[in-house]
Amino acid sequence: MGRSGGNTSAARAASGKGLVVAPEPNRGPSPSKPVEPPRWSPGHPLAPGLHVVATPIGNLGDVTLRALWVLREADRILCEDTRVTGRLLARYGIEATLEPYHDHNADRVRPAILARLRRGETLALVSDAGTPLVSDPGYRLVRDALAEGLPVTAAPGPSAAIAALTLSGLPPDVFLFAGFLPPRQAARRKALGAWRDLAATLLFYEGPSRLAAALADMAGILGDRDAAVARELTKLHEEIRRGRLSALAAHFREAGAPRGEIVVVVGPPDAETAPPSETEIDRRLAEALGRLSLRDAAALVAEETGLPRRELYRRALALQKPGT
Ligand code: SAM
Repeated sequence: MGRSGGNTSAARAASGKGLVVAPEPNRGPSPSKPVEPPRWSPGHPLAPGLHVVATPIGNLGDVTLRALWVLREADRILCEDTRVTGRLLARYGIEATLEPYHDHNADRVRPAILARLRRGETLALVSDAGTPLVSDPGYRLVRDALAEGLPVTAAPGPSAAIAALTLSGLPPDVFLFAGFLPPRQAARRKALGAWRDLAATLLFYEGPSRLAAALADMAGILGDRDAAVARELTKLHEEIRRGRLSALAAHFREAGAPRGEIVVVVGPPDAETAPPSETEIDRRLAEALGRLSLRDAAALVAEETGLPRRELYRRALALQKPGT
């Protein structure tokens, strides 16, 4: 039996399934002032502007109802790869006009897209998978549209980083999404150095061929922290491997490059795994300089700490010649 004390037949009709929905007190339309329909929800005309739409990261069932509505109603869909987005649309029987917007044409086509937004068109922006702008195209378009005061909204949904964070078993309260690390080792180590002292869980996107080397560098630069490698999330071969960074690096070095798409989640520093402080590094260098050449002392401490040899060489040089 329903608990509604109001117009139950209207409530039943609104719910559509014979269920009774209690009317919310003081929220009904006032006779003198018509209520504006919500601008961003199904059942109403799609508002003009740029709609940033998240799409599945593997499992097509992860698309939201609102995303489908926007994709169905938009004047056109800006997408990275028309074949990839075409597959999603075909799965849901959506016919749409697709227009490529990707790293290679974005600067060239952006002015025309902004002109369409100025004319009041409804445009959806998607990427191949997950949330646009998150290691995907879209940032400059959103920035330029906002700068002109054009309407921009988001239909949020899947992102591999958040799915990996939730499954990692690592602290989610403070986290930093660092995207892709540079492919070359020296640049990668330098980038990792910037996050070393941050009291946060770190999230990285990584390719299979570089995974073992990246994990080893993380262990060296960040310290041997708890971590998780999340692979093929939401897909048939989803796998989360958890452990210390050094153990994960050893596993993937021995097993070879895994298949598929990967997120690496690294827990915050703790007392056990914290990398040596600057004072400790200088102490080790000074001790090594007492018995080794400058070059060998830097190499030894580089091996012990995972820090770049060149940086340690410079440090050792300064220790040898204070004031230089
Ligand atoms: N915009 C996307 C998002 O919101 O997650 C990310 C796009 S980025 C170009 C692609 C990278 O995301 C992949 O190389 C991988 O690191 C990660 N990724 C995407 N899908 C994934 C999945 N199903 N499982 C694990 N990682 C995934």
